[in-house]
Amino acid sequence: MRPARARRPLIGVLAMQGAFAEHVRALEKSGARTRLVRAPEDLEGLDGIVLPGGESTTMTMLMERTGLLKPLRRAISHGLATLATCAGMIVLARDVVDGMADQHGLGLLDIGVRRNGYGRQVDSFEAALDITGLGGKSFPGVFIRAPLVESTGSVEVIARHNGDAVAVRQGRIVALCFHPELTGDLRLHREFVKLAAS
Ligand code: GLN
Repeated sequence: MRPARARRPLIGVLAMQGAFAEHVRALEKSGARTRLVRAPEDLEGLDGIVLPGGESTTMTMLMERTGLLKPLRRAISHGLATLATCAGMIVLARDVVDGMADQHGLGLLDIGVRRNGYGRQVDSFEAALDITGLGGKSFPGVFIRAPLVESTGSVEVIARHNGDAVAVRQGRIVALCFHPELTGDLRLHREFVKLAAS
């Protein structure tokens, strides 16, 4: 039998800055317990973590300042289920183009991204996406100053937009260029809660 914890997994939401409150709501509606993560001790006992959208440069700087960067890198590389959206995807990526010179992120996800790679004229847009594993209906992808995935290594691309990867999976990591927490569609959060519980 599964431990009680796994039926209602505890998912941390990195709360340095950015769109973390919306993730908390979506995760709780999807059956998870949640905890805001602001310090290394907040990582204790988590089944999963969300790295939200926001500003990747600020997020990385604050993670360094609070001492979270290294323990978070260790936890994710040891298999902590991770959902990274937009700036979160940048923080997780192996290579970042157009970041700050001293932007040292987690470097765990085998992709190269260009910050704000969709260009100024299309700062924000919405696109219907077909995502592997979600079945049926397309998913409303809300892109806000999104990173462009320029290269992919050993990841599975689970959605594309105009030929470019916009959602990838690598083991227990799922990373998205867009913001599922800003739509009423809970399918990606529900899938992530299942992944964290497994
Ligand atoms: N452009 C932001 C960055 O570089 C990401 C935008 C977002 O998360 N919506 O971090």
